[in-house]
Amino acid sequence: MSYYSPSIEKLIEEFEKLPSIGSKTAARLAFYILNASKEETDEFISAIENAKENLKYCSKCYNISDTDPCEICDNALRDHSTICVVEDVRDVVAMERTHEFKGVYHVLHGSISPMNGIGPEDIKIKELLSRLMEGSVKEIIIATNPKVEGEATAMYISKLVKPLGIKVTRIAHGIPVGGDLEYTDEVTLSKALEGRREI
Ligand SMILES: [Zn+2]
Repeated sequence: MSYYSPSIEKLIEEFEKLPSIGSKTAARLAFYILNASKEETDEFISAIENAKENLKYCSKCYNISDTDPCEICDNALRDHSTICVVEDVRDVVAMERTHEFKGVYHVLHGSISPMNGIGPEDIKIKELLSRLMEGSVKEIIIATNPKVEGEATAMYISKLVKPLGIKVTRIAHGIPVGGDLEYTDEVTLSKALEGRREI
């Protein structure tokens, strides 16, 4: 049974639905909202409504964006002959933060995972292929996560794309900056060895 009044209980319930929010945090957020001014809560509500209304998927790269095409696809200064393939919209943000990549992206919205019933047709692979068919792409960099699913997805895409005469590369995996060889597990260490480069 609940010790809260129904309206508070409902608010807590809604917060609890959010990822990684437990019941204690949900209660804390609900009471924060209750104590906030009307202006603050109005701003919060309209930010949610605005995001839901305006955000869409870019029809080229499937990144989430206020515009279609997205700002990255629409930027003539970026190298449109190099596509970085990622699993998730958040991975685009992670790559952008490095300021190293000047190409464009393709967001798969997942990875191949037979265990979870996710096949190649469930993610944006055919959309990637139709982009490549246009003929101006020279290289794709596969930046899926270094997990079983991410590796399987990378292999699958590589097999499809290589015959098209497009260079396929995979981001290197290895020892994190500041890491110690001694404490690195053997899988990471062997991947690091595999991905070695000349200096
Ligand atoms: Zn785009």
